[in-house]
Amino acid sequence: MKEYESPWSILTKFRTLNSITCRDMFRLFGTKHVKSLKTTIGSIHKSIITLNGFDEKDLIKALDIDLFSMNNDLINNLKKPFMSKNNKTYNLNIFKSVLSFCPICIENKYHSTLHQYLFFHRCPFHDIELLKRCPSCNIETPYLFDDKNFIDGYICACGHIYSSGRLISNRTFLPIFQNKSMEEFIDIQKTNTIFNIAFLDDFEEDSFSSSDIKYDHIDLLNFINKKKTIKAKPFPRSENNLDKIRMKFKKIDTEKRYSHYPVVNQTYLIGVKIFSSISRQYRKTFLKKHKQCIHYYTSNSCLDSKQFCPLAVAYVHWKKDMLEFKYISDVDNKGYIALRRRRINDFEHQVNHYSKFINRNLDNLFYPGKMHPDYVNYFKWNLSSIKAQLFISEFETYLAASIEFINKDEPINRIYRKYGYAFMPKILFNQFSGNNGSYSIYIRPQNNLKLLIAKANSYCNN
Ligand SMILES: [Zn+2]
Ligand SMILES: [Zn+2]
Ligand SMILES: [Zn+2]
Repeated sequence: MKEYESPWSILTKFRTLNSITCRDMFRLFGTKHVKSLKTTIGSIHKSIITLNGFDEKDLIKALDIDLFSMNNDLINNLKKPFMSKNNKTYNLNIFKSVLSFCPICIENKYHSTLHQYLFFHRCPFHDIELLKRCPSCNIETPYLFDDKNFIDGYICACGHIYSSGRLISNRTFLPIFQNKSMEEFIDIQKTNTIFNIAFLDDFEEDSFSSSDIKYDHIDLLNFINKKKTIKAKPFPRSENNLDKIRMKFKKIDTEKRYSHYPVVNQTYLIGVKIFSSISRQYRKTFLKKHKQCIHYYTSNSCLDSKQFCPLAVAYVHWKKDMLEFKYISDVDNKGYIALRRRRINDFEHQVNHYSKFINRNLDNLFYPGKMHPDYVNYFKWNLSSIKAQLFISEFETYLAASIEFINKDEPINRIYRKYGYAFMPKILFNQFSGNNGSYSIYIRPQNNLKLLIAKANSYCNN
């Protein structure tokens, strides 16, 4: 057994050597329960992470290696940073649910548990992209010990041969890290905990299958090293006077069912301020020479889309949405703002598009009755910082959509929706856990805005 080698790799070699199926393996080395199963064996017993379908003693005897403890050591090391303080596992499956492999490693009949690690998208030993689909039939294989997709250990049901060489090769392949940041991550995560970490987009939700996860080890590494983070000093307790805040916002508290409403209302107003400062900044910089374009669009929006400047279209729709104006002509027309704003309802205001993620993340942190006095400020700071990033990403989405809009005869909102979460920022932060006093949010640096502005400028006729 080589370092970091997965049980899938070991078991596949074993069954290929002995020309037997996975089903045969369970018949020979399965637990009493699995052996007694007359019909199909359920997925729950076929896990390669837990190996719970196998009888430990029988399998160790057959393989002549302690697959179980070697596997557990590695898995526990990978899981450790995500364990909560009370050692209950954080609700995060850190392994991919489908077989993820390196074509060079698998040619050498080697597969690693690190290939299955959720935050690794490249082979640590060859620094090439990991694959999740058969190169010939494009099918994903669930990461289970199962005969379904492999007719032989290394041959796909479609006939694709993953590994052509002899089983015992003279060339002994050794897993040596080629990707230095992955090596650093494996080292650093042995001693660091990142428990209570929250990801802005919740990839465990149905709309994001685990194969879509875009976070990587660099994000986690930066988060641990507090790089690329925005920070603030914890606000003093005196500012946390909830009753004061409640009194102040009583008047606009339309629904009093939740005790956190005053704070939510306040974050709404902070959000308006943040939005205004971002949009002011945009108008002063790259939108400066498009003032005419903006005015032309707000007063003639029913004309043919080819006539407009994408920067103007993006800005107008973005502002209309974020400040909840009713009409395009309301944008930059101060007289109408207060009258036309829809009612304040929940956290999702201003960044509706992302409400699902915000609500999920913040619900965990913030609910009535459990509110720690220090939490109010943390919540406000956290939500405001995230909102600022979401406002920017909404602008990027509108800008990408607007470039398409002026070239196509399709409603802008339909194009916008098509982009979904394409520009969603990658944000990591700590869930509030008492007096941790850590006000920091990691934001992955991205270059989208610059690229989009350059592209949009080429379509402006002014
Ligand atoms: Zn490899
Ligand atoms: Zn195939
Ligand atoms: Zn323009």
